[in-house]
Amino acid sequence: MQYTFLIIFFIFGSILGSFYNVVIYRLPRKESIVVGSSHCPNCNTNIKPYDLIPILSYFILGGKCRSCKQPYSFRYALIEFITGCLFALTYLVYGYSWFTLIGIILVSVLLIITMIDIDTMEIYDTFQVILLVLAILFITQSGLPLGDHLIGFFIISVPFYILALITGGMGGGDIKLIAMGGLLLGWKATLVAFFIASITGGLVAILLVLLKQQGRKSLIAFGPYLCLGIYIAFLYGNTLFDWYLKFYS
Ligand SMILES: [Zn+2]
Repeated sequence: MQYTFLIIFFIFGSILGSFYNVVIYRLPRKESIVVGSSHCPNCNTNIKPYDLIPILSYFILGGKCRSCKQPYSFRYALIEFITGCLFALTYLVYGYSWFTLIGIILVSVLLIITMIDIDTMEIYDTFQVILLVLAILFITQSGLPLGDHLIGFFIISVPFYILALITGGMGGGDIKLIAMGGLLLGWKATLVAFFIASITGGLVAILLVLLKQQGRKSLIAFGPYLCLGIYIAFLYGNTLFDWYLKFYS
């Protein structure tokens, strides 16, 4: 039975992922995300409903617009696929529960933040507000003391803020992101999130230097790594934290 639900969550995620593509594309261009059907960015032809099947349409159409034959970016299909996987993973970890519902909303917001941050180096306050609301909802369900959540809000964001004041190197969006994420996660999982973000961000930075690609500034944005850290910490954070303590005691 669980496999059926996994597939349903995957399909549901990939359908929503197709909507997230619209949000990621249109928000930075100040276009409405509700008005106007999907159209080819090259020839403006409206995309037929039967060509909007998540993931599959890309392969059916051979990655090209049906009318002008301009190639589409593979990224759209990839985001649909990733959203589907993340929804299924959330269900796999938390089953039929409030955690799963909050988790799929959380991962959706984090995915959109990540892609827009990669494209524009900006994190919109709208998404920080959604994270704040989500954090408040989650606090009522998490089973952690309220104090853990409140400390989570400050534990990384305050050092980030001080670092930003001193060096000017840390973006305001990143500070708010780890504050909201921290409020949701509680302080233990927030440390795990930060650890994961630093390790992955650091590894990619080293890789870019080795490949002599450090000019690609978009890959150095810290937001995407924070998003990754926050989500892994949401799924496994408190387990990882306890495991770490046991390992070193
Ligand atoms: Zn076209």
